[in-house]
Amino acid sequence: MAKAMPLRRLTEPALLLLNIRQLLTLSSTVQGPRRGRDLSQLGLIESGAVLCVGGGIASVGKTKDALRDSWIRKNRRRIREIDCAGKVVLPGFVDSHTHPAFTAPRLIDFEQRVAGATYEQIAEAGGGIRSSSEGVRKATRTALAEHVLGGFNAMLAQGTTTVEAKSGYGLSLDAELKSLEAIRDAARQWPGTVVPTLLGAHVVPREYRGREGKYVRIVCHEMVPRAAEGKLARFVDVFCDRGAFSSESTEHIFFAAREHGLGVRAHVCQLSHCEIAPLLKYDPASLDHLDHVSDEDIAALAAQSTISPAYQTVATLVPGANHFLGLGRFPDARRLIDSGVPVALATDYNPGTSPTASMPFVLSLACTQMKMTPAEAIAAATINGAHALRLAERKGSIEPGKDADLAVFDVADYREIPYWIAGNCCAAVIVAGAQT
Ligand SMILES: [Zn+2]
Repeated sequence: MAKAMPLRRLTEPALLLLNIRQLLTLSSTVQGPRRGRDLSQLGLIESGAVLCVGGGIASVGKTKDALRDSWIRKNRRRIREIDCAGKVVLPGFVDSHTHPAFTAPRLIDFEQRVAGATYEQIAEAGGGIRSSSEGVRKATRTALAEHVLGGFNAMLAQGTTTVEAKSGYGLSLDAELKSLEAIRDAARQWPGTVVPTLLGAHVVPREYRGREGKYVRIVCHEMVPRAAEGKLARFVDVFCDRGAFSSESTEHIFFAAREHGLGVRAHVCQLSHCEIAPLLKYDPASLDHLDHVSDEDIAALAAQSTISPAYQTVATLVPGANHFLGLGRFPDARRLIDSGVPVALATDYNPGTSPTASMPFVLSLACTQMKMTPAEAIAAATINGAHALRLAERKGSIEPGKDADLAVFDVADYREIPYWIAGNCCAAVIVAGAQT
């Protein structure tokens, strides 16, 4: 077994996964998010074994070495075992972009879009993000937390063990704080890890229409400080695009976030192009969507490979939104990857444009629509997702010392994970060394 073997005594629960047909460790000597060819490195071990002790990964290697290991032999009767013969084990997915704090599906938008209306026409007619805010403002925190937890559980069932969760349908100080509290309440009832994000700047609410500056001041001077004080958010996000917030407003909000010790991330270039370079000086953990990027943007993101991994920005692609909006056009993942930009994949789980909690489905879209290889898609959904949340020290790969968050898939080959469209081959999920 690859070390380190647990030095602690076996007073904590231990779990041993054995006979794993394909163990995808995602381990690598590369520091920072995976770029270019490194995105395909899965660290695959055949007939693998993983020992989890006290919530962490204690050792990783071949099954035959695990069975010979003196510590495992001595303690075997007290170790719980899972036989993973014929199965694939990989790190639990890290879904680094979701909007679970809503109360109802947006079925009118759905029908209007099927009839030919665009995203912006629907928003203009009173649908879109603003139409979700009514339900969130009216909902009790308890009811909202139940909806959030429902989303988290749907994600867990498909192999997701870490999730970023945004507010963003409250669009007032009280309703945004309530959304973040509901996310926290749900997180306490969920075994996985939740990274909360304040997205007060999702869209300008109706009552501030035409007064973006005034609403941005509320975000900067009320929402950000209160979210930081209450430790309700780790990141602040902004929807920076045509019909949402300007680059200038985005910089104001990023500045406020930084003043209050919060990280930043943004939705950019989904509907139109905006210049990325000015935003990079705030060290965003991730810039998401990127349907309309320029060569300069790509060069700026690729050039970050020389700075400390702690400040690098991941490009998070959310093809579920392109699919559900019926755009027939997807972000140019190949151009990004081949230019050296680190790419992550996420569901963008939300009621308007991407109502899916399934990372395997997103992997399918990445392969079929964006021409990513299955190996690239898996790395983008695990280790690079962890980097997009600045959690790669603990998440995203199966290596000694990291959290024991694993997904077991009932398939013989990892390429089947994106291959079987809209099914669910996830057989078991291990979170902090315990089966859920
Ligand atoms: Zn989003």
